[in-house]
This record gives sequence, C-alpha cells and structure tokens, in this order.
Amino acid sequence: MAVAKNGKRPADRSSTPPGTDPHQGAAHAGAFGCFEQGSSGRLSPDRLLNVLRRTGILPDDPRIAETVANLDRARPAPPPAEPWLLAAEEFAAATQRNRGIIERAARGELAVPDFPALVADLQRIYQEVRADRRGAVAAYIPQLARVDADQFAISVCTVDGQRFSIGDADVNFCLQSVSKTVNYCLTLEEHGPDTVHRHVGREPSGQGFNELTFNKAGLPHNPMINAGAIMSCSLIQRGLDAADRFDFVADTWKRLAGGRGVGFNNSVYLSERNTADRNFALGYSMRERGAFPSGTDLLATLEFYFQCCSIEVDAQQLAVAAASLANAGVCPLTEDPVFSARTVRHCLSLMSSCGMYDFSGEFAFTIGLPAKSGVSGALMLVVPQLMGIAIWSPRLDAHGNSVRGIEVCRGLVDCYNVHTYDLLTGTGAGSGKRDPRLRRQQSAIEGIVGLCFAASQGDLNEIRRLTACNVPLGAADYDGRTALHLAAAEGHRDIVEFLLSMGVDPQPVDRWGGTPLDDANRFGHRELVQLLADATGTDLAGR
Ligand code: GLN
Repeated sequence: MAVAKNGKRPADRSSTPPGTDPHQGAAHAGAFGCFEQGSSGRLSPDRLLNVLRRTGILPDDPRIAETVANLDRARPAPPPAEPWLLAAEEFAAATQRNRGIIERAARGELAVPDFPALVADLQRIYQEVRADRRGAVAAYIPQLARVDADQFAISVCTVDGQRFSIGDADVNFCLQSVSKTVNYCLTLEEHGPDTVHRHVGREPSGQGFNELTFNKAGLPHNPMINAGAIMSCSLIQRGLDAADRFDFVADTWKRLAGGRGVGFNNSVYLSERNTADRNFALGYSMRERGAFPSGTDLLATLEFYFQCCSIEVDAQQLAVAAASLANAGVCPLTEDPVFSARTVRHCLSLMSSCGMYDFSGEFAFTIGLPAKSGVSGALMLVVPQLMGIAIWSPRLDAHGNSVRGIEVCRGLVDCYNVHTYDLLTGTGAGSGKRDPRLRRQQSAIEGIVGLCFAASQGDLNEIRRLTACNVPLGAADYDGRTALHLAAAEGHRDIVEFLLSMGVDPQPVDRWGGTPLDDANRFGHRELVQLLADATGTDLAGR
C-alpha cells in the first residue's frame, strides 16, 4: 500500500505508458516466471487470471481491464484442445499496461499476502454467524419491516483492491446511518474542521441515535447521530439546488465504491419523510438554539437527510467504500483521491468513538476499530491501512446494530491482530491471533531469526520483547541452532540464565550433533560450561 506510508497518491505509481519503460519486453516477461508452463517458454493467460483471482484481484478490476480485454481478443475460438499459451513477448504486450498490479500480485506483495487464508476465515465466520437469528428488523417504516430478515452478506476489499464476498453481496440495501460518515467527510472537505465543529460537537452522546439531546453549547453531540447528521446536511453544498446536492452525495458514494453507480430507494425516502416526527423535532430544536448556519432551509435540510439515508448500495460497494477510507481517502480500485487523508482521519476518529450508537464504547473496547452501522442492518468496518469490510444482515439488537454484523467483527478480531491495541500484545501462539499483513510463515520465521540474532548479540531486552510476543524460545533455525546454542557460544551468561529460567530444553542438538554445552566448551566460557552442565545433569569429570 503506497499511499499512507510514503505520502504519495497511488496515481504516482500508475502504469507506465508503453515505450517509456526501460524494462520492457523480455525482462518484463521474466517477472512472470510463475506463469510459465513446463519448459515450453510459453505462458498461460488462464493461469494468470487464476493467480490474480486467488490473490483477490478480480476480472472486473479496472486496473487489469486492458489485460482482460487484450487476452479476450487473443483468445482462440473455438477453444483449442491443448492449453492456451502465449509466447513471452505476446504475453508481455498483452499485460504491459497493467504490469504494476499484476507483478505485485504475482510476487505476493499485496496488502494481505495470504489472501486465500483470509477468504477461508471469512467463509468460516460466515457459516458460524449465519446460525445466529437473534434480533429483529427495524420496523419504524414498512419498507424496512418487509425485508427478508435472513439475508446476510460479508464483503471485503483491501487497500490494494483485493476483494472477496460471500452471501447476499449483490443485494441492495439502504445506507441509513452509514450515510453519516460520508456526509461528515463532505462537510470537512468543503469547510474544514473549525467551521464544521462550530455547528456540531465531537463527543459521544451515550444516548440512542435519535435521542432529543444536545451538548452544553446547544449543538448536536457528534456527526454520527441523527441531530449531527442533519447538521451535516445543512452544511453540504448550500449554494446548489436540491437535485444537485443529492447528486453530489450520490456521486461521492459512487467514487468511493469503485465507480459503479449507487441506487436510491424512493419508497424508503417517502416513508422516512412521513414518519419523521423525531427528526423534525431534532431539527426544530436545533433551529431554536441557533445551531444551524444562518439562512438554513430546515425542511430542505431534513429532506436531504432522508434522501441520503435512502441511498442504496450492495455489500461489495460498501466494502470498497470502506477500503477507500482505510486507504486514506483514495479508492483502491480506481486510484481516485475522493477525500484528503486528513478528512478521513477525522471521520475515522469519530467513527471509533461514536459510530455504533450507544454501543460505541463497548465496540471500541472489544473490537477496537472504526465502524458505522445503520438500521438497515448495514455495518461498515475500517481497518486503517489494511482493508474495509461491509457486513449486511437486517436483524438488529437493542442498540440498532446488526446482530450478525457485530458477531462477524468479533470473529475477525478473534483470529487477526486488527484491534488497534493488538499491537501491544502481539500475535504469538498464546494470543491465537495472526497478522494478515504477513506472508505465510513470515511471522514465525522473523521471530526465530530475531531471537537467534538477539541471543548471539547478547540483547536480553530484545529477547524479553520477543518472549512477550510469544516467540517460542526453544525454536531452532534450519541448522538446528537455538538461541541457547548462540548465547552459549558467545558467552552471554545473562541470556543463558534467562533461557534456562524460562524452561527451554537445556540440551538441544544442532545438525552437527552439538549442544550448547559443547559450544560453551569450544569457545572457553568456563562459567557457562558449569551452568549448562548443572542444568543438564552432565558429569564434567566424565567428559
Ligand atoms: N433514517 C433513520 C433515522 O433517521 C436512520 C437512523 C439509523 O440508521 N440509525 O431515524
């Protein structure tokens, strides 16, 4: 993920125009070694598309659109009996414009390198959570009361645009309160935080989303509850007429969601407007307190708010939008910089503290990630710099959050170290958590290499840190050398003592048949010889 780490927009690494790149041609084809078939030197386009799909780069990804079109044109019809292969140069020409993303996928360099493992976990979580039928659909308007309560979708998109969906991921639902996130971002982009927060606070209210309550200054508590979201609507593009204001918001969702247009549910909108006494009460109350910018048309503002709640997306689109937030405001699929990183930072902060209604504190404690839910059963979860996840399942708990949505979040945080403060507790065997940012085995290998290096350098602090991260202290490298061997060979008494006190095997044998005691002997560390002999019950006189 290039954006947040080096401060560059991803557009900076967009595909190089043909003819300008020194690595073109044969050298480029060389990068595709993993697609080669046998010794023919020819490459399989179908294998390319399969590898890409496995890494989460789907055929409708705009970043490989040219490659897919070129290969479609080249595909022999009718299909040949033999596997369809291209010469390296043909293959390079067909993929040239999209080589950046293709090479990174082939090399396992995308945000979630072991994407099949993430897919398997999401499939497992989906099956487990599907059995949960607790909760009830929102019933304050007939359009929500009528939806099939059993529908369920999980969709994920990483900051490198790796996607996976399961369940009813192409069924539309209305955004409802999830719309509050983007509306808040739009106010920040247009006016900056100082002006925006003259009209809305940024403290959790601790109350229900439509509670008739304001802060001490008479302003809505925050932009993630109804009063604050109505305030956002009063601030967005005040100079435009109603139709253009709506188009502006809908178009922003389209850009965040990867370019596919969003829908609008007119009957939800009409129903919302007809059963909106509470929202009208919030609006009049704020007007009475002078909270709105002067000249605000209250009715138009409320209608705009109901329209935003009635925008429809499917889980796939919501996941891409969440990934755009995870990616500092840049859509991973189109590289469209929709929001500034600063705007997204503000929005994620308030999603973390206020995004889950009056369950926000509990959610921050157990899940530890910014999220926003809506009464349609939508839940948007953001793992900054890693991925966005959309969950949709209409049955709600007493707070108005999707029951299954919360359970999926729990499932994810149980198996991955994505809670913000998991960085303190690590991922070793004891935590039962894995790091989705690592390649398969990468964390284990790095832990063992780090341990052996620290032992040879005499760095006890680092060994204590690795212990806290659950790196197995008795682990051996390829040669069967353990931290104890290395500490004994280098004469680091404090480390030998520490390792023994932690209960590691005192006489592991390396591939040459040597034990730590042999190492201590060979390098003349007398005290250690004694220490290790005692620990292993070795009779030194008899050696
Ligand atoms: N349209 C709903 C309302 O204003 C949105 C609330 C929600 O999703 N929590 O009451």
